[in-house]
Amino acid sequence: MQHISGAWQRTARGAGLLSADGTTVPTIFAEMSALAASTGAVNLGQGFPDEDGPAPVLDAARKAIADGVNQYAPGRGFPDLLAAVAEHQKRFYGIDLDPAREVLITVGATEALASTLLALIDGPDEEVVVFEPYYDSYAACVALAGAKLVPVPLRWPDFQPDLEQLAEAVTDRTRVILVNDPHNPTGTVFSREVLDEVVRLAHRHDAIIVTDEVYEHLVFDGPHVPIATLPGAAERTLTISSAGKTFSLTGWKTGWVTGPADLVTAVLAVKQYLTYVGGSPFQPAIATGLRLPDEFFASVASEMAAKAALLGTGLRAAGFDVSTPAGSYFTVVDAAPLGATDADAFCRELPERAGVVGIPLTAFVTPAHRQEYATLVRFAACKRVEVLADAAERLAGISRA
Ligand code: PMP
Ligand code: GLN
Repeated sequence: MQHISGAWQRTARGAGLLSADGTTVPTIFAEMSALAASTGAVNLGQGFPDEDGPAPVLDAARKAIADGVNQYAPGRGFPDLLAAVAEHQKRFYGIDLDPAREVLITVGATEALASTLLALIDGPDEEVVVFEPYYDSYAACVALAGAKLVPVPLRWPDFQPDLEQLAEAVTDRTRVILVNDPHNPTGTVFSREVLDEVVRLAHRHDAIIVTDEVYEHLVFDGPHVPIATLPGAAERTLTISSAGKTFSLTGWKTGWVTGPADLVTAVLAVKQYLTYVGGSPFQPAIATGLRLPDEFFASVASEMAAKAALLGTGLRAAGFDVSTPAGSYFTVVDAAPLGATDADAFCRELPERAGVVGIPLTAFVTPAHRQEYATLVRFAACKRVEVLADAAERLAGISRA
């Protein structure tokens, strides 16, 4: 494989996936789920729920298949789903969108991110500012697009960025400021000050804000504030979300991008050559989901808050130092009190020591910064209460290193 060069190598290196012998290794999520399966450990690693989403949404997908919604959807998505996304943005955030021009349906948030970054980045001199630790596909896509990743650190335990460091990172070379709020892997929700500063810097340096808000309905002490609602932001912001987290349907891979028509059209230009379209029968079903009553959306947040609290109690009892998430599926712990010096090694031993799987935070940072996150581990709370209780019991009996 060594003789093959090109974007795959750049991407794999950017994502930290290229091993010493030049072969790719799976993402940390795939690897840790395989470890959980082979050891019988409770999988609090990869963030996917262990219960299906709301029955009306599942029924609507079955009905769509039965009704023959089984061929290609239009490139932007079915008009009814475009309308449902626009209605959702209006209902929850007061954002007005033209569904025909300012909404695009994608194959999950992952494709939305990939096509957005490929569409906006124009060469090796351009930079993308991200908050570190960051979701793994960000570094991979920035590398694939051939640009430079500029990380701004989020530090234990509150994981809010230092505003001066943020201001230093954004320059006239910055093409995109990539925000993820609520944030994976830390569970933080950015303060209004941070969001304001992102908008100010984007204006000052003529950068585009790309914001990944897949956990928008998992803010524990709501409401969620989309950065696009801040003064002066909408004109230069692309907002990305997905059905996966809100409806507990991560395998459906249906997402969307919203924002100014010219930017959305640029994303469409790339997206149509990545997948063209995806998942036709899921589209009417997600439209049903987006139109569920407010109580559904409120319960998504309150149930996850309760699960995060339960997980936090179990983790504290086991002896970890625990940060308190404000949203998302995730809770980050410091495993140093349990003897960890290398989160990656700790996570590989954890199935043996405690019968539980977590994800090392070092998987979400550039290799040069690993030391600063060396003892931090992410656990996912998006599991049934009895599974979290089982995990807590197992962790309480953790063998000391
Ligand atoms: N962004 C973040 C922050 C995520 O945690 C995930 C994982 N679900 C994604 C994007 C990918 O979303 P999707 O499964 O809709 O592609
Ligand atoms: N978003 C999920 C997580 O952070 C993982 C999705 C994936 O495996 N790519 O756990």
